[in-house]
Order: sequence, then structure tokens, then C-alpha cells
Amino acid sequence: MTANLLDYDLEGLAAFCEQLGEKRFRATQLFRWIHQKGASQFDQMSDLAKSLQGKLQGVAHVQGLRIISQHESADGTIKWLFDVGGGDAVETVFIPEDDRGTLCVSSQAGCAVGCRFCSTGHQGFSRNLTTGEIAAQLWFAEHFLRKHLGIAERVISNVVMMGMGEPLQNYDALVPALRTMLSDHGYGLSRRRVTVSTSGVVPMMDRLGQDCPVALAVSLHAPHDSLRDNLVPLNRKYPLAELMAACQRYLAHAPRDFITFEYCMLDGVNDQAVHAQELVQLVRQTGPGAWCKFNLIPFNPFPASGLLRSDPKQVTAFAKVLSEAGIVTTVRKTRGDDIDAACGQLAGDVQDRTAVASRMARQRTVMLKSVPA
Ligand code: SAH
Ligand code: SF4
Repeated sequence: MTANLLDYDLEGLAAFCEQLGEKRFRATQLFRWIHQKGASQFDQMSDLAKSLQGKLQGVAHVQGLRIISQHESADGTIKWLFDVGGGDAVETVFIPEDDRGTLCVSSQAGCAVGCRFCSTGHQGFSRNLTTGEIAAQLWFAEHFLRKHLGIAERVISNVVMMGMGEPLQNYDALVPALRTMLSDHGYGLSRRRVTVSTSGVVPMMDRLGQDCPVALAVSLHAPHDSLRDNLVPLNRKYPLAELMAACQRYLAHAPRDFITFEYCMLDGVNDQAVHAQELVQLVRQTGPGAWCKFNLIPFNPFPASGLLRSDPKQVTAFAKVLSEAGIVTTVRKTRGDDIDAACGQLAGDVQDRTAVASRMARQRTVMLKSVPA
């Protein structure tokens, strides 16, 4: 097996090149060819020493993901389904706007958190993506879009880790991929324009603040523990008080002076005026000043959830309570819903190893029980 160079951030590539007896600047050249120019063949890398090209041929390759499908929405949103092997597929979405191009990237095949309102969560968990599989989504999309749109310079200005999976439950693979996104020799994205969205993996929020402080979005969805326990099961492990304290600690490292709270509006469940008032209390008792913003997300329904989207009037009224308390609140525009690319609709195709595993365990138990004593 030769090494896939998409698995390395610049430091990792420098270490790899060192093992081949090559200087650091060679790694930088190679990294730029791969990420800035989208090259995958070493003999295309014209200013790379022939001797290094030769060495790389036998020990390394640059391997993107196989595309299963591509759908383009009427509003310009593009969704790709990528094969990651073993029957698993993950989704990536490009969302063009007037002043930016955002790529929504997946971090896992499925998700183990199992939020009630999320179709990825309903599918269960198969496996973590590798650094190369996370980076490959940006590598492919950026270079495809330049050709597709006929643009010579950078197309993707923002990355949000809001595709399939809980990025902070795949921390070790995530961080090198983020570093590649941020590197001046990679995609040169600003820390403020790379957002990790989490359902609240408290210890990893602290580590991210130390290791790679990018913008942070926290999926809140409820103002108190009993409701959040029900909607976001991870809350039972890291309840709101701990989550809020972790947000405060993150602020010391964050590239922006606020945390974004995402709040999916579920009809009759978490969208009442009383919930908005409780959120105001929660924010005020956690920290002084304008330390957070709210992004209200219209729920994208899917049949198995048994939940409904809040009435737009309810969303407006809810937003008003927060805004009047001095909390900056926006309502997310739904993009790409004609191609099932909107938030929470990213279902990909995942083999639920956890369900399979527990079904197999149950079968074993039944078999054991049926063995005569
Ligand atoms: N696991 C991470 C990131 C992926 S989910 C997290 O939960 O933050 C990205 C965002 O989509 C989260 O805020 C999530 O709550 C939201 N989301 C999930 N399902 C949704 C749905 N059906 N409708 C609207 N938003 C949804
Ligand atoms: Fe996982 Fe995020 Fe979906 Fe929850 S909302 S199940 S954490 S992907």
C-alpha cells in the first residue's frame, strides 16, 4: 500500500518527504501542486525535481473519492455523493452566494449521536472518515468548480463542517484536514471562514481551542436539559451547564468574538415563546455581553422523524424575543432543498455498523438460548 498524500497536512508531508531524504521546501512544492493546482500525477508537477518524482512513483499516490452522483439545484447549490468504500457513501454540498462560496463537508459515514431531527443520525454510524477523505471533498470540489464555472482563482471561500457526522467525534482525522484548509500553501482559508459545528463534545471543544481554533458553531436546539436530553442524546453526557462553560472557554481562543448557536425549529417542541425566554436566561447567566449569536434553522422534515417544521410566523416571533433581548439572531435560508441538500437531509448511504453489531449480538444471544442445556 502506498501513502495517499491527501492524508497529510503540510507538517505530515514534510515528515514523509524527510523519510525519503528530501528537504522541507520540496514538501511545500508538492503540497502546492496537490492542493493549489489540483494535480494528482507526479509527472505533471513540472518544477518538482525528477529525482523526487521518481521516488514518489513507488511509494505515494494522490487519490480522491469516487463520485456516485452529482445534482445541481435551481439555486446553484451542488450536491455530490461520494463512495467511501464498504457500502458507505457521504455527501458534500457547495452553496454559492453573492459574496462567498461555501462548502459543507462530511466528517463521518453516519453519526453515532443520533439526534431525533437528523436523518444522518437516524441512519446510525458506520465509520470515521480519514483525513484524506475529509480533505478530498474540498480538493475535488474546489478544482471541479474552477473548471465548471470557468474561474481561475479560488471558488470556495468558506468551509463548514456541517455535513454528515459529528466532527469532534473524529478529532484526530479532522485536525490535519483543517490545517490543510487553513495553510497558505493549501487553500489559504481564514480561521474565521472555517467552521466546526458540534453537538457539544465538551472535551474536544477544549482541545480544538488549543490545537486549531477555527470558528465554532454549537447545535443547541433546546434551552434546558430535559428537552435537550431528548433531542440531542449527547446532552446526557455533557449537559448544558458543562456545554455553556466550554463555550466560554473556547471564546478565549476563537477567531471570532462569538459562538454561533444553531437551533433547529421544531413545531410545538422547542419553538414556543417560553423556550426563547429560557434561552435568553441561559445566555445571560452564562456570560456577560454579546458573546453568542443564534442561527434558527427551519427543520427539514423526513418521514421517520415524526417531527414537523415550525410555522414561519412562529420562527419570526421566536427570533423577535431573542433580538429584543440584544442577541443577534438570523434565520437560515434553506438552500438546495429541491435536491435534498438542505441541513439534515444529508443521508448518504451508510451501513449502520452499530445496528448490525447489536442485531448480531441479539442473534447470538437467541442462538445461545436455543442451545439445549
Ligand atoms: N454533527 C454536527 C454537524 C453536522 S449537523 C452538529 O450536529 O452540529 C449540521 C447542522 O444541521 C446541525 O446544526 C444540525 O442540528 C442541523 N440539522 C440536522 N438535522 C436537521 C434537519 N432535519 N433540519 C434542519 N437542520 C438539521
Ligand atoms: Fe450527528 Fe449532528 Fe445529525 Fe446530531 S445533528 S445526529 S450530531 S450529524
